Amino acid sequence: MKEIRFERRIPVRKQVDVFIAGGGPAGIAAAVTASRMGASVFLAEKSQCFGGAAALSAVPAFMRFSDGVNFLPGGIGREVFDALYGSSTDFRVIELPIDIEKLKRIYDDMMVSSGSDFLFDTRLVGVETANGAISSVILQGHEELFAVEAHTYIDSTGDGTLAVMAGAAAEKGDISGRMMPATLCSLWSDIDWKKALVIVGEDPDNRKLEEAFKDNVFSVRDTSLPGMWHLPSDMGGGNIGHVFSVDGTDEKDITKGIIDARKRLPEYEYYYNHYLEGYEKAKIVSTGSQLGFRETRRIIGEYVLSAEDYEKRASFDDEIGRYCYPIDLHPVSPGAAKTKYEENYLKGYGLGNSYGIPYRCLLPKGTSNLLVAGRCISTSREMNGSTRVMPCCFITGMAAGAAAALSRESSPREISVRTLQGKLKQMGAYLPGVKD
Ligand SMILES: Cc1cc2nc3c(=O)[nH]c(=O)nc-3n(C[C@H](O)[C@H](O)[C@H](O)COP(=O)(O)OP(=O)(O)OC[C@H]3O[C@@H](n4cnc5c(N)ncnc54)[C@H](O)[C@@H]3O)c2cc1C
Repeated sequence: MKEIRFERRIPVRKQVDVFIAGGGPAGIAAAVTASRMGASVFLAEKSQCFGGAAALSAVPAFMRFSDGVNFLPGGIGREVFDALYGSSTDFRVIELPIDIEKLKRIYDDMMVSSGSDFLFDTRLVGVETANGAISSVILQGHEELFAVEAHTYIDSTGDGTLAVMAGAAAEKGDISGRMMPATLCSLWSDIDWKKALVIVGEDPDNRKLEEAFKDNVFSVRDTSLPGMWHLPSDMGGGNIGHVFSVDGTDEKDITKGIIDARKRLPEYEYYYNHYLEGYEKAKIVSTGSQLGFRETRRIIGEYVLSAEDYEKRASFDDEIGRYCYPIDLHPVSPGAAKTKYEENYLKGYGLGNSYGIPYRCLLPKGTSNLLVAGRCISTSREMNGSTRVMPCCFITGMAAGAAAALSRESSPREISVRTLQGKLKQMGAYLPGVKD
């Protein structure tokens, strides 16, 4: 391929304690926490709102805030929960539909009132390193490139973009590189909720699929349909239709995938209208502005949290929080056999059970001033099926923000984990094994 040399002198517009790439649940939790702990923070978000996949890809529900007894993402997660649902709402409910516009405003308010500096429409496009550390990041504003220098950097892009640009190792997908399918989530009107069958934790919308396959309703024989959520607006939030074999870090795949998703969504509209009660008049009103990717990179950190840790409800000396969502792996292809995790998904843990998340999962190997938070933390592929959901991203984001704030005189690798745990606990983190 033909190449050209690209060289510019660009301004260093900000010098801060903590730079954060990405304003999804992990990035917001990190920024608000670090700012409240007195650090100067700059966050760059490539879209024009906070919230990540929920806001951009219209993910319809939070799942889950609790192990059935304890509130797990205490601190930032609790603030979001209280603002969105009200503090008297039963947090043990396993799926909580999202009022997306309200959630965006909540995140705006939290970010503005925390004093964090941030810009939308600003994309991380490069990383400069020197002596084994990140020295600056290169950002593309609406029109101009500029640099930001920070003492500590946090990657909360979901994709691990900052970490790989800094040279961290990452893995993608299963042994053959295959990842979970993407979904273009959608908003629906005119659903008769009195008639529609909604069973929390189950997928009742898939019960007539075989009939519809026989009638050639669908161009892809996808036997897995997460379904429709009853949103607070009374609209339907559709987590409907998988797009297979697309890599969310490759713009060619993203382009192909979203065209395919938009083209096939009317097949589901026909299915809902003609096969399921309550949806006879249902209409697609809009789709997310981005294709939603459940899985891309996992950064390799100092510890790789595994399915065995899930099974044994592991505890760690350096844990920064505990979580419980079952391993939720969607099939990699339409005909793929169900994994044991899919079979076990509905069972999950018993009440009050959880696993610990070690601080080491936030520390990419081979880097000195970088933390990762959210979907791209260091886990096995299976375990990513649990830690990827939003309440867990609040846990790892809050821990990364606190660690970065504590690193102002040193580095995230040198801070006292005991001090970090104490701070997190003071701020509301669920750390039952950490003594006050
Ligand atoms: C279809 C689908 C259904 C899901 N269902 C649920 C569910 O029911 N419940 C649940 O809790 N979770 C669900 N999830 C998972 C959850 O939404 C995500 O895993 C979670 O949002 C990850 O949070 P994050 O902060 O790590 O990343 P994200 O939410 O992806 O946020 C990353 C942010 O970084 C920004 N960014 C990325 N790259 C750059 C860059 N180079 N420069 C600047 N900014 C950048 C992005 O614009 C985005 O705002 C679902 C996900 C999908 C896709």
